[in-house]
Amino acid sequence: MHRSHRVAGALVGSAVGDALGAPFEFGPPGQFSARFPVPARGANTEMCGGGSLGWEPGEFTDDTQMALLVAESLLENDGLEEADLFGRFVRWAEVEPPDVGKQIRAVLRSGRPWDVVAAEHFAATGRAAGNGSLMRATPAAIWFSRSGGEASADAARRISALTHGDPAAGEGCAIYAELMRVALDGGDPLTAVPSALALVADEHRERWAAVLASSWTPADATESNGAVWSTLGSAVWALRHGRDFAEVLRLVIDLGGDTDTVACVAGGLAGAMFGMGGIPMRWSSAVHGRVPAFGDRRWGLADLQELAAALDGKPLVHYSPGVIPRIGPTEVLPGIWAGNLDGARYSEADFAVISLCRLGDPFPHEVHRMAYVADNEWNHDLDAVLADVLDDLTALRAEGHQVLVHCHGGASRTGLVLRGWLVREKGMSVEEATAHVAERWPHLGLWNGSFTAALERLRPAEG
Ligand SMILES: [Mg+2]
Repeated sequence: MHRSHRVAGALVGSAVGDALGAPFEFGPPGQFSARFPVPARGANTEMCGGGSLGWEPGEFTDDTQMALLVAESLLENDGLEEADLFGRFVRWAEVEPPDVGKQIRAVLRSGRPWDVVAAEHFAATGRAAGNGSLMRATPAAIWFSRSGGEASADAARRISALTHGDPAAGEGCAIYAELMRVALDGGDPLTAVPSALALVADEHRERWAAVLASSWTPADATESNGAVWSTLGSAVWALRHGRDFAEVLRLVIDLGGDTDTVACVAGGLAGAMFGMGGIPMRWSSAVHGRVPAFGDRRWGLADLQELAAALDGKPLVHYSPGVIPRIGPTEVLPGIWAGNLDGARYSEADFAVISLCRLGDPFPHEVHRMAYVADNEWNHDLDAVLADVLDDLTALRAEGHQVLVHCHGGASRTGLVLRGWLVREKGMSVEEATAHVAERWPHLGLWNGSFTAALERLRPAEG
């Protein structure tokens, strides 16, 4: 898998976990699976919003808000400037964003200097090993992953120490950074646990080794999962036992308690491990939010992807496709329409749109899914992405939506999905499906051999 898929997966995965877990925060165990016993692929998904703070479906919380503050500070200063970053935290905390933890609020609203306040607070209260610094650790883990394990762990500790005077919290961030560094390089973060523990200060190692052991389960936790040890322990436990991104998140949210933060941490690691294409598109498409006190910008999926690439050393550019002559929408199969980028962008707002390319500015459609698929031979796990798209397409059709499938030109990726739907839902051979679509959609493009190979691997749906 290309590193860029992992980098985007890490940042988007952490925001997805935050938003997915938020409605269940401080609830009892098992709530997520009780409400969603099977995947919810229609217009209403597991990104359900609500909870005691009334989140919008897909809206991220303070975890991602603080992570974005870290990301922007790193980019604008070309590295870690602690005073600048602390100033951003203070400015944010001044407007009382919802869901901010007690300890972070106390530190950021104290008016004390950045380099002493967290230590003073820890000395006075003895309580500072919450998960509030771990939850914002992903951007720095990406940024410093290119500088090696020591530098990455050191930066993680310094950013943690801005709000968390207890070194135990900083050690948790250092471990997280090391697991993330290994995952972004294509390694298995679970086998990196021993080398991550080697980075931990001696007096903290034993306690961290206990919660990261393969035999540890969340039932063994000696404190709530608002504490840094059980948060990271639970995330790693879910990574060990979940088969894919969705299952990892289901496992941690079903633990109850501090669900947004535990899912944010688990989602970051799982996103790095399974990549951007491993995140169900119904979740990644919905994730969004604002950073209080930092303007009215609405962050969405494309913004997070562009930010992730910049944190990995690429130029920060906002993609703009320009204006292209519109093609479609045209009803190619019953209830299933096709188009190119601007054909879809300017279509009736009640279409359920499935996008298979980069968009530039977001669409106005209420039901809008964005899949991570490139028109080349280098898609990682194309089968999983195609299955995700076809499952959502089928669910949206079953709810009566007119579904509009499009990509940049409406030819190759759009053709993949239309043909795939016929193979899977109508039991056609690839040749039959291709002829059927070509007759009704003259824009069909067949140049991508890896797409046809993926269609050959599809099996008709049962029943
Ligand atoms: Mg939160």
